Amino acid sequence: MPKIGITTTVPVEMLLSAGYTPVDLNNVFVGTPSPEHFIRIAERAGFPLNCCSWIKGIYGVCMENNIRDVICVTSGDCSNTLMLMEVLRLKGLNAIPFAYPAEPDERLMAQTLEEFARTLGTTPRAAEEMRRKLTGVRRLAARLDELTWKENLASGWENHLWLVSTSDFGGDWQKYGQDLGTFIDECTRRSPYPEDELRLAYIGVPAVYARELYPFIERHGGRVVYNEIQRQFAMIDPAESLAGQYTNYTYPYSIRERIGDISTQLALRRIDGIIHYVQTFCHRSIGDIIFRATFRLPMLTIEGNADFSLTTHIKTRIEAFLDMLARNRSKTTHRLPKR
Ligand code: SF4
Repeated sequence: MPKIGITTTVPVEMLLSAGYTPVDLNNVFVGTPSPEHFIRIAERAGFPLNCCSWIKGIYGVCMENNIRDVICVTSGDCSNTLMLMEVLRLKGLNAIPFAYPAEPDERLMAQTLEEFARTLGTTPRAAEEMRRKLTGVRRLAARLDELTWKENLASGWENHLWLVSTSDFGGDWQKYGQDLGTFIDECTRRSPYPEDELRLAYIGVPAVYARELYPFIERHGGRVVYNEIQRQFAMIDPAESLAGQYTNYTYPYSIRERIGDISTQLALRRIDGIIHYVQTFCHRSIGDIIFRATFRLPMLTIEGNADFSLTTHIKTRIEAFLDMLARNRSKTTHRLPKR
């Protein structure tokens, strides 16, 4: 099956039903031992220093991996993708635009999907069939999420990795399902994480230093039990149709949809504190103002650019945040009436 690159989550069912192997260019970028290499390729081609690393990384991956077809999400993700698409076309790639509707409206989504199916040479019916085939795999992702927050048997990093990979299912959805099934079996044989650990929510786009972030938090008494965007990528809440599924997906729409989803999960998962990751030069960082004005829980905002390891500065801020949460919790516990 020919490979097709994607710049963010798109209706993967369409790509699969059209006979493509999806490749999430973001995952290839940060999944290699030296992602800086891809950024250098982009900067040598003229991408400015003040452009987001993810955009530069995607460009570098396309050049290096001989990707010919790329779906560029031009609405509902990142305005930089518009210009990235133009540059990819200049370099001779077949860059195909995909735009999420401006509002989460099922009728508009159905029209968008119909048009997308025509572009790819498939049909909405074939994509629906694919959606049904993927139901079991998405159910496994939901089970892993439960193992993370409900049964305390999976780490924040494991949760991140499995959920973020659902954008392309690692290029082979059947293998992804088998591997995740095996992993879930392994998790159920573990001893649970301690009850007294601090329970954290991670909101915002995936961090460039995710690989170090999650274990660092766990070494300091906390654990991420909610990965907002990654969980959204996985689309684990069942819908009746493909249009419904991509309408429920909060990431492409206004921050209001995200806040509704996050608020529900913060309460459900008994979260002690929120870590909001923002990417340098990203317009989404401005949403920090709204999150801070909305959520009542303590929130730490951390930033990343092209630093794929945690800096001492960020480590110190995370440690201080966890210390503060632990002190808050012990004060609350002392105030509780004795039984
Ligand atoms: S992090 Fe922000 S600027 Fe970078 S690709 Fe994502 S949406 Fe665009």
